[in-house]
Amino acid sequence: MRFILGLTGGIGSGKSAASEWFEQQGIEVVDADIVSRQIVEIGQPALAKIAQTFGDWCLLEDGSLNRRAMREHIFSQPDARQDLEAITHPFIRSEIIRQLNAATSPYVILVSPLLFETNQHRLAQHSLLIDTTPELQLQRAMTRDHQKADQIKNIISAQMPREEKLQLANDVVLNTGSLEQLYTQLKPLHQHYLSMATAVQTEQA
Ligand code: ADP
Repeated sequence: MRFILGLTGGIGSGKSAASEWFEQQGIEVVDADIVSRQIVEIGQPALAKIAQTFGDWCLLEDGSLNRRAMREHIFSQPDARQDLEAITHPFIRSEIIRQLNAATSPYVILVSPLLFETNQHRLAQHSLLIDTTPELQLQRAMTRDHQKADQIKNIISAQMPREEKLQLANDVVLNTGSLEQLYTQLKPLHQHYLSMATAVQTEQA
């Protein structure tokens, strides 16, 4: 089995910035957000199951998922979120596992904003939290997404509190400085993960 690192952090913490740096070092990254979109693409079984459960109103004319209608439905009916997640989570999980198994780099990263919340950390041997202050999270996410402060604040408050994530993560990188300062902290961690990956492989040989 390949050594899997779970990488997480709240919205705007710098997860993508960190994953891109690891990718530049030749490490493959499986992104849970991307997978959650892939499994509801046209022709995918999860999308058929969603339409079957909720009705054809949740599809657009071209047969793709009507995200806006679905978002509004979930917002007005809290039970609907659970029903939707009961359909999507198993598909997301098996697609994540498939992509992790297909990776060929020395170790592989699973990046997920909800790594701990959805138990995806159990798929990884080790975890790294990209941590920052709520003020910087808000500022960076607003600039990136051109969204209002309230929308970002809602997302932050729906995610696991910073303190809890700090307790759960094996490693923490504080991303309150420049991007260069972030990369400087990632460098020794990458070396550490490479040796952990070698140890895992030697154990199994
Ligand atoms: P996440 O993937 O955790 O939501 P991103 O990596 O996309 O967060 O970072 C949010 C925004 O902040 C991006 O536009 C990113 O380029 C920027 N950013 C991240 N870290 C820093 C930093 N240390 N200095 C300046 N900008 C940063």
